[in-house]
Amino acid sequence: MKKAVFLDRDGTLNPDPGYISDPNHFDLFPGVVEALKKISQAGYELILITNQSGIARGLITFEQLDAIHDKLKKILAQGGVSLSAIYFCPHHPDFPPVNGISRCDCRKPGPAMILQAIKEHQIDPAQSYMVGDKSSDIKLGYNAGVTPVFIGEKLPEGFEEVVAFSSLRDAADWIVADQQQEKKL
Ligand SMILES: [Mg+2]
Ligand SMILES: [Zn+2]
Repeated sequence: MKKAVFLDRDGTLNPDPGYISDPNHFDLFPGVVEALKKISQAGYELILITNQSGIARGLITFEQLDAIHDKLKKILAQGGVSLSAIYFCPHHPDFPPVNGISRCDCRKPGPAMILQAIKEHQIDPAQSYMVGDKSSDIKLGYNAGVTPVFIGEKLPEGFEEVVAFSSLRDAADWIVADQQQEKKL
């Protein structure tokens, strides 16, 4: 079984102005490539798990989302890092159906995207993490049975017990150390 770090996109890997539709407006926070490289070198699959309701809202197209993810992959490749997979939810319950679905199982904090990734990539949830900047990412971690890691200045109310860091770089250091700790036990 493999282990994975599941990654939120907006606000975790890249600044989030809201519903980015143009690859030219997409860039990573400083240190993200190095942080992902460190996690990857520690033996984790890197798997993107992102809500993209901009599609249901009519603000972005599938083609635009693909172009943004192509840019993401290109930036990572330049740093010698690659994602094992990208899962996204295009739906929103309050907007018109996408591919016939409006009220879906995949929208975070629903666990369907991670459960699918676990199945498709033979991931052990007990050795895996969900890293994100919102309470929905933390809830997703719990719902999918992986350890949540919060990125941000202040933990959402009710989640004070969750491990939190101000940057992905610090989270990467902790994840790698946490794994070594577990090995010793
Ligand atoms: Mg986010
Ligand atoms: Zn969905």
